[in-house]
Amino acid sequence: MDLLNTLVDKGLRREVPSRDEALAVLATSDDELLDVVAAAGKVRRQWFGRRVKLNYLVNLKSGLCPEDCSYCSQRLGSKAEILKYTWLKPGDAAEAAAAGVSGGAKRVCLVASGRGPTDRDVERVSETISAIKEQNEGVEVCACLGLLTDGQAGRLHAAGADAYNHNLNTSEATYGDICTTHDFADRVATVQQAQAAGLSACSGLIAGMGESDADLVDVVYALRELDPDSVPVNFLIPFEGTPLAEEWNLTPQRALRILAMVRFVCPDVEVRLAGGREVHLRSMQPLALHLVNSLFLGDYLTSEGQAGKDDLAMIADAGFEVEGTDTTTLPPHRTGAAAAPAADPAGTPPVPAPAPDEATRQGLVAVRRRGAGTDLPPNA
Ligand code: SF4
Repeated sequence: MDLLNTLVDKGLRREVPSRDEALAVLATSDDELLDVVAAAGKVRRQWFGRRVKLNYLVNLKSGLCPEDCSYCSQRLGSKAEILKYTWLKPGDAAEAAAAGVSGGAKRVCLVASGRGPTDRDVERVSETISAIKEQNEGVEVCACLGLLTDGQAGRLHAAGADAYNHNLNTSEATYGDICTTHDFADRVATVQQAQAAGLSACSGLIAGMGESDADLVDVVYALRELDPDSVPVNFLIPFEGTPLAEEWNLTPQRALRILAMVRFVCPDVEVRLAGGREVHLRSMQPLALHLVNSLFLGDYLTSEGQAGKDDLAMIADAGFEVEGTDTTTLPPHRTGAAAAPAADPAGTPPVPAPAPDEATRQGLVAVRRRGAGTDLPPNA
């Protein structure tokens, strides 16, 4: 298929595909799906080998948000039966983070609901970052606290944060359909503030909110232009009690095409399989490992994910390796490091990190059963 050969060539050269080529990936048939996955898999292996980076979410503050993002169970007026609590103490957050790290996570993502942090919130999160870094050598910490105001990104960076997440979620043209309390430009500005402060930017999307193929391509090109280091791809979890509760419009095949399109447009970026993978990809999840090089281990913010031991087994069964803290995720040209020998797209992996042993897997599962960062039962 000429399209796929062209996309592989461009991906290996880090060249941006045309908009029509990206749209054509989304329009491929089910008969072509394995060819699409195989082609995007070549690009994935060129830049990331067969490594899978694991990330672990700790929800520092849950629910009670004044914003109205329609996909979100924590939004203003949400009737979703989620846990609601205010700031976890630094020690408790560090304990929750340690459980993820012992299960193989190399990045901890600290998330708080709300429009954005106050300066006092930034201080609180800074204390939490210190507590996590003291207890977990080599762990990366990403903060996800909403829209930032002047100086906050710099303070988080000074406190030891490695990265900042703020997703664009959907295209600029349709942003007003999913949220009225802030706009697309606000989100772009926060990602740019994080980058300007020296934080590694993480920004992604949510698919399955009723958007068109053109919207999906638009948001992925907007992300490519922003050039974050990581791009989480969420698939909408249609929570009861939110305006998008009826939006069940993804198939596993479409989810794989979306991930392949993101990989072709952002070939050398950490593409992360994020919320909704279990309910939308279902038994096709292992195929997604040929497209993404990163995923969340364990629970999401307000919903329970697949058991950690199942994630680790899936990665091993599919022939991939958990990435260790001694390995730099991004290719050298993105980090300014000296070039290492290129991974062989035909499949020779770099030296893998050992998978967590059975004892640590058990520990991870035990903690996850309590819900991320709390003693309360998870929200299924
Ligand atoms: S996505 Fe964030 S800002 Fe929007 S409603 Fe949810 S918690 Fe609030």
